[in-house]
Amino acid sequence: MSVATESTETFASLNPATGEVVGEHPVHDAAAVAQALGRAREAAGWWRALGWKERRLRLLNVKGALTRNLNRMAELIHQETGKPVQDAQLETIMAISHLDWAARNARKVLGPRTVYPGLMAINQRCELEYQPLGVVGVIGPWNYPIFTPMGSIAYALAAGNAVVFKPSEFTPGVGLLLAELVEGVVPEHPVLQVVTGLGPTGAALASSPDVDKIAFTGSGRTAKRVMAACAENLTPIVAECGGKDACIVDSDADLDAAADAALWGAMSNAGQTCIGVERIYVLDDVYDRFLGKITERAKELRPGFDREAAYGPITMPGQLDIIERHIKDALDRGGKAVVGGAESVRKPYVEPVVLTDVPDDSSAVCEETFGPTITVHRVKDLDEAVEKANRTSYGLAGTIFSGSRARAMDAARRMRSGMTSINAFAAFAQVAALPFGGVGESGFGRIHGADGLREFARPKAITRQRFATMNLTSFGRTEK
Ligand code: NAD
Repeated sequence: MSVATESTETFASLNPATGEVVGEHPVHDAAAVAQALGRAREAAGWWRALGWKERRLRLLNVKGALTRNLNRMAELIHQETGKPVQDAQLETIMAISHLDWAARNARKVLGPRTVYPGLMAINQRCELEYQPLGVVGVIGPWNYPIFTPMGSIAYALAAGNAVVFKPSEFTPGVGLLLAELVEGVVPEHPVLQVVTGLGPTGAALASSPDVDKIAFTGSGRTAKRVMAACAENLTPIVAECGGKDACIVDSDADLDAAADAALWGAMSNAGQTCIGVERIYVLDDVYDRFLGKITERAKELRPGFDREAAYGPITMPGQLDIIERHIKDALDRGGKAVVGGAESVRKPYVEPVVLTDVPDDSSAVCEETFGPTITVHRVKDLDEAVEKANRTSYGLAGTIFSGSRARAMDAARRMRSGMTSINAFAAFAQVAALPFGGVGESGFGRIHGADGLREFARPKAITRQRFATMNLTSFGRTEK
C-alpha cells in the first residue's frame, strides 16, 4: 500500500525509450516515512502473531495474485525500465519463484528446534528459535525492479517481519503494484508499504531509529551513505552492490556455448545487470576462435523497444556518460573495438561493444560499466585467468566455461566472488535455495535461501535446566 503524505511535491517516472511519463508519484518526506514505520510496527506485531502456517498461506496467495497479474507487472517493468517485455516477464517469474520458496521454507529454516547441548551442559535442554526482527526497510534499484527487491521482501515477510519498501525513483510503479497485490491478500494490516521518492526518502528510512534492519541493493557509493546513516542507531544492514564480473574460457570449453552464454550475460538487459559479464579471460590457444564467435554473434544484436530487440535502452540517462567514458578511455589507451566503438552510444541506446587489448588498469576493466560492452583478454593459463579475474575491488559473481569438471571446480573455488557458475551464465540466480551476495565492494550479507531468511531473523537461545548438577548455585560451597 502507498503511504499518505502531506507533501505536495511529486516526481514522474519516465519511459526511457520514449520519454513519456509512466506515472506521477508523491515524494515521501521524513514525516511520511516515520508514519509508515509506525504503521509497520503495529502490522509487524499482528503478522508475527499470525503464526507460520497462516503466513505461509497468505504469502502463497500473494504468489497467486502476482502470477495472475504477471502481464500487468511485466508491462509496467517494460514501461519503467525499457527492457523487452519478455525479459520483464522472465524477471517476474523469477521473483515469483523466490516468493514461493521463502513462503514454503520459512518454518523449516527458522522454526523452533532443540539442539544438542554438548558434554559440558548435558543437564540443559536447549531451545533455539529465530524470531522476526520487527520492521525491515528495503531500498531497491531499478535494473531488476521486481526480482531484486523480492529477494529481500519475500524473505523478510516469510520470517515474520513487516516491510517498508523504497523502490528506485525510476521504477516506483512496480513497487506500488506489488504492494497493491499484497494488500489484496493481507487487507488487515499494512505488512508491505511503499514510500516513493528520491535519495532523501531512502535516507529517511535508513536513518530512522524505528527500523530494525535495512536491506539495501544499489551502488556501492549509496551503500556507504546508507551504512553511515544506519551507524547512528546501530541498525544492521545487508548490502547488495555492484560488480565487475569476469568470465573465464578454458582451452577445452565448448566455445559455441561459451560465446552464447557470455554474450547473454554481457548484453542482456543492456548490460545493466549487477552479475553481468563485463570481462572475459580466454586461454591463449582458443582466444582467436572464441573472439571470432563472440564478435560474429555480438554484431547481430540490436537494441530497441520492440519485441524483436535483443535488449532495451539505458534506463538511467546518467549511465550513458559512464559507458561512453569507459569506451573512450579503453580506446585512448591502446584498446581496439572489434565490435562498435564510442559511436555505439546513441541516446538512449547503446549498441554492442566488444573491446580487446584494453590495459588492465583502465576504467573499462576496473570499474562497473553497466552497459552492453565487454572487454576480452588473452591469458596464458587458468592461474593467470583467475588472478586477473580477482584483481578488482568487486567480487559479486563469476562464470567459467571448461570441459574439465576438476579444473572448473578448482577455478570456481579460487574466484573471489560470492557465486560462480560453471558452463552457464548465472544459473545460481535462478536457484532460490542458494545464497546470493558478494564480497569486497560488491557488498556483504546474503539474500535468498536459508541464509537469506536468517538475515531477517534474530536467533534466540533459551536453556532449561533438567536436573541439578554442579552449577553456579553450588559454586564455592564445600562439603562438611
Ligand atoms: P543507487 O545506489 O543509485 O540507488 C539505489 C537506491 O538507493 C534507490 O532506491 C535510491 O533512490 C536510493 N538512494 C539514493 N541515495 C540514497 C541515500 N542517501 N540513502 C538511502 N537511499 C538512497 O543504485 P541504482 O542506480 O538504483 O542501481 C544500480 C546499482 O545497483 C548497480 O551498481 C548494480 O550493480 C547494483 N545492483 C546490485 C544488485 C545485487 O544484488 N548485488 C542487484 C541489482 C543492482
